[in-house]
Amino acid sequence: MLLIFSMLEATSQSPGLKSADDFIDTNYPSLDKLYKQLHQNPELSLHEEKTSEIIASELKSLGFEVIRKLGAYSHADIYKNGKGPTVLIRTDMDALPVEEKTGLPYASKAVGINAIGNEVSVMHACGHDLHMTVFVGTARALIKAKDHWKGTLVMVAQSAEEVGLGADLMFKAGLYDKIPKPDYAIALHANPYLEAGKLGYREGAFLASVDMMDLTVFGEGGHGAAPHTTKDPIVLSAQMILDFQTIVSREINPLEPAVVTVGSIHGGTVHNIIPDEVTMQLTLRSYSEDVRNQIIASIHRISKNVALAAGLSNDKIPVIKIRDPYTPATINDAALTNRIVGVFSKKFGNDNVIEMPPYMVGEDFSRFGVQSHKVPIFMFWLGAMDPAKVKSAKEKGEQLPSLHSPYFAPLPEPAIKTGVKAMLVAAFELFNHQKP
Ligand SMILES: [Zn+2]
Ligand SMILES: [Zn+2]
Repeated sequence: MLLIFSMLEATSQSPGLKSADDFIDTNYPSLDKLYKQLHQNPELSLHEEKTSEIIASELKSLGFEVIRKLGAYSHADIYKNGKGPTVLIRTDMDALPVEEKTGLPYASKAVGINAIGNEVSVMHACGHDLHMTVFVGTARALIKAKDHWKGTLVMVAQSAEEVGLGADLMFKAGLYDKIPKPDYAIALHANPYLEAGKLGYREGAFLASVDMMDLTVFGEGGHGAAPHTTKDPIVLSAQMILDFQTIVSREINPLEPAVVTVGSIHGGTVHNIIPDEVTMQLTLRSYSEDVRNQIIASIHRISKNVALAAGLSNDKIPVIKIRDPYTPATINDAALTNRIVGVFSKKFGNDNVIEMPPYMVGEDFSRFGVQSHKVPIFMFWLGAMDPAKVKSAKEKGEQLPSLHSPYFAPLPEPAIKTGVKAMLVAAFELFNHQKP
């Protein structure tokens, strides 16, 4: 413990760190310009061509080797700076099909083409523009301070996080074979409820695993006036939906978080016809592979047996498809979390480094930790909101706009400066100190 403490002292007093920190403040106007450029020019998942190029050319000009062909517009940028650990820092790049309604002078008016070919408004409603600005600021600060750390810096700019594809595509393209294998991987995500200037963390379970499931329930259709001549898939679906509610409440250990949500159900055409089939779309969330597998098995068992109990034959039991890839749970490595939270607290003060609850949303940064080469990962929250707005929302008992809301409006300057300084102290800690 004493040893760790003395190392933290050394980190906070390092002259290299101090000058890099000052550099972040003087360099801010350029980062602000970049943030607004990215904010006004958002691109949808798998379409991040221009965004990706802005980042690649910036890192190339800083002396990074840029590795492409990693699925969609993802690239990995490598800077070798002597013998030492390999630290990977990841940003995502994609925006959402949302029409911005913040009223900000630099609000997005961009449009894009969605997956089914329709023109849609596009907005950085998940703060990935903040992530990218922090990413570029971190690259600049670490290169500026390159005489004060040793090791290999790998900066990964990832496509298509919002659709859960980008990280999977990168690993299918062999990411960890094409870059020096990281000893640690870190990332941040903007938080819409936390004040800009603060950071949030959680050891262990941070974000959930996410599955999208398509379920087709079959029946035997007929006249609505003669239900006895049919097997009604609408009634069967209603039974299944209610039975699914007992998976979390009666089958999963109550100490294990889990969600089963039926988000869409479609069947039938008019009032007086019993249809042949009903389709449903579900989302399943949990924090462990065992619970995930248990939920999937229960849905198979319930849907099959409800159909059989209605007298349907074996060839009419429901068909279940799970979309590939799913998003694994994001589990923050305990030792890495504690190490980095230690330097965060030292740098920003305990009051600005907040332990946060886990959330049931997903993030495919999780995949960076669960390859055949296991890598300790740490993702943390970057406070994004104007502290005055957080205070007034608390006083009035109101909710601030969530991520993905058309009203999501981060306060850039304190959020970006805090994000870059946080990444900088984290990288300095990992590069300059052996594992405690
Ligand atoms: Zn998002
Ligand atoms: Zn996001």
